[in-house]
Amino acid sequence: MKRMLPIYLSVSFLLLSFSGYSQNRTQFAVRNVNVITMTSPNNVINNATILITGNLIETINGGIPKNAKVIDGKGMWLIPGLVDMHVHLPTDAYFSKKLPAMAPDFTFNLQDIMTPIIANGVTTVLDLEAKMETFGQKKQIDNGTVIGPRIALAALINGGAGQGRVANTAEEGRFAVAMAKAEGYDFIKLYSNLNIETFNAIIDEANKRGIKTIGHIPNSFRDKLEKAFVPNFGMVAHAEEFSKHSEKFDIQDAKRFAKLAKDNGTWLTPTLTAMVWIAKQTQSIDDIKKSTSLQYVHPLLQSKWLNANNYVKNATPERAVHFDSMVEFHFQLVKAFKEAGVPIVAGTDAGVSGVVAGFSLHDEMRLLVEAGLTPEEALRSATFLPAQWLGIEKYIGTIEPGKFADLVLLEGNPMIDIKNIQKIAGVFVNGKWLNKATMGAMLSDLSKRNTAAKDKFDWKTTVNKKR
Ligand SMILES: [Zn+2]
Repeated sequence: MKRMLPIYLSVSFLLLSFSGYSQNRTQFAVRNVNVITMTSPNNVINNATILITGNLIETINGGIPKNAKVIDGKGMWLIPGLVDMHVHLPTDAYFSKKLPAMAPDFTFNLQDIMTPIIANGVTTVLDLEAKMETFGQKKQIDNGTVIGPRIALAALINGGAGQGRVANTAEEGRFAVAMAKAEGYDFIKLYSNLNIETFNAIIDEANKRGIKTIGHIPNSFRDKLEKAFVPNFGMVAHAEEFSKHSEKFDIQDAKRFAKLAKDNGTWLTPTLTAMVWIAKQTQSIDDIKKSTSLQYVHPLLQSKWLNANNYVKNATPERAVHFDSMVEFHFQLVKAFKEAGVPIVAGTDAGVSGVVAGFSLHDEMRLLVEAGLTPEEALRSATFLPAQWLGIEKYIGTIEPGKFADLVLLEGNPMIDIKNIQKIAGVFVNGKWLNKATMGAMLSDLSKRNTAAKDKFDWKTTVNKKR
């Protein structure tokens, strides 16, 4: 049988993460399963048999070869692997710089970073501030050393006097894009301190080089928001970028913003879950303390979230009220953008205090439904639509023969209740099957080690210590 092999792919993260088909020829058949294909709205193939060979979906209802390992999917639902369109994966270099006292011996265990992500069925992420080290992380996933998601890498460009990729003229902006492209980044993230001419030049240059842009709306567009909507501005990375331009938080503003995005073909990642967490910790630290996913976060970050938390430090009753009304306005924005026909994708800003990668995507999908998306639309926002924006819808995002075997088996129907997204019976990560017991064991082992190491990581004492 002729296989569809992904040979010529346009963007580099495909070349890395999708480097051909795996040598592994293991076959799995999931039997009697209800397949939510995401190929068209509400399309479900009931009681189907899916055959997976290596890392590809081979057939749907095409029979079961003798040697295939059979998984009984009776009463269960199969969906495409989920995509988180806004994450910040921790890297050693970043924290070594922040924590000179701990460097150079401090390193994250990469599997520990990835385990909560894949255990929640998230098989692709967009890292919106990828570093050179992120390429190394990706490589370890590609060569099978670590089980983790496909990683798309965005290079962050900012203006002002900061460190990293900084551009303050059109020329510098174009150069920064050229460098990012040469280094192998797939996308450009635009940041808050860019001036208008540099912002425009970056988007233009990125488009010329076949790179999409996603970002904040820089502060330089204050009182002239419409000027930010230049051709090829690909996506706004937070609903918050719009709410900064609203004084009254009313539906008229929401509709006006939605029209700007719609007319320009600019998509939206609302990151509702990040805003909800920001609002919560402005009230009190207790919600983070009580969070059931905190145990899966590295103790160093736990300590930072609990002991060096700027949202808590800067909290005032006025700020708490402000963030609460911001959350409410975010919901209105999602509704208005949906009504205007702007594609909305699920992203969480995982890495922000409280927002735990993997778990956070389920929260985001639930919040999107609370804001007015149907469960089916929330699923689409975390599967097909991100694949389309990333330019890889031929390879992931739907369940079809020839696509990569990134799949989530659920014990409940997410189209009836989006919370069923949490009832994971197993995940195929690029063809590798992880059942509930395996993932449960990985998570509980991670939690135990994090808890045992808690005393070793105290953000306050560490950052104050001099080398
Ligand atoms: Zn972010």
